[in-house]
Amino acid sequence: MPRYLGDDFILPQLTPNNTPWYTSGEITIQFCDDCGHAQHPPDEICYACHGSNLSFRAVDGTGTVESFARVHHPLHPALKEHVPYVIAIISIDGAPGCNAQGNVVNCGANDVAIGQKVRAVFEEAVDPQTETRLLIPQWEPAE
Ligand SMILES: [Zn+2]
Repeated sequence: MPRYLGDDFILPQLTPNNTPWYTSGEITIQFCDDCGHAQHPPDEICYACHGSNLSFRAVDGTGTVESFARVHHPLHPALKEHVPYVIAIISIDGAPGCNAQGNVVNCGANDVAIGQKVRAVFEEAVDPQTETRLLIPQWEPAE
């Protein structure tokens, strides 16, 4: 699997709540088993009913660009070889009200538009401290 942003890219720190998102290789969303509410990022309680019967489910892995920024100035030295790149907010199909942040890859920075359909791709990395295999969701144009 590819590394879209390179080996120097800063990796997420895993927690019990974010491990499905960063390791499953699917777009995995937390749903409330009591009321059906979908929420992202995951938390200990349901934001709709305050229940604590929560579970993770994979959804289709597609979504829509709601907003984005084209980055031309690298904010970290690890990113200087990757500008311009796109950071986007993606509304996730099958998870009403859930948005995710990610990069839109496999296209030019000028090829991203609000309303564009995207699908998940996964950036593979290994956490050097825990040796956990990460599959970090990114997005690419779906059409
Ligand atoms: Zn609920």
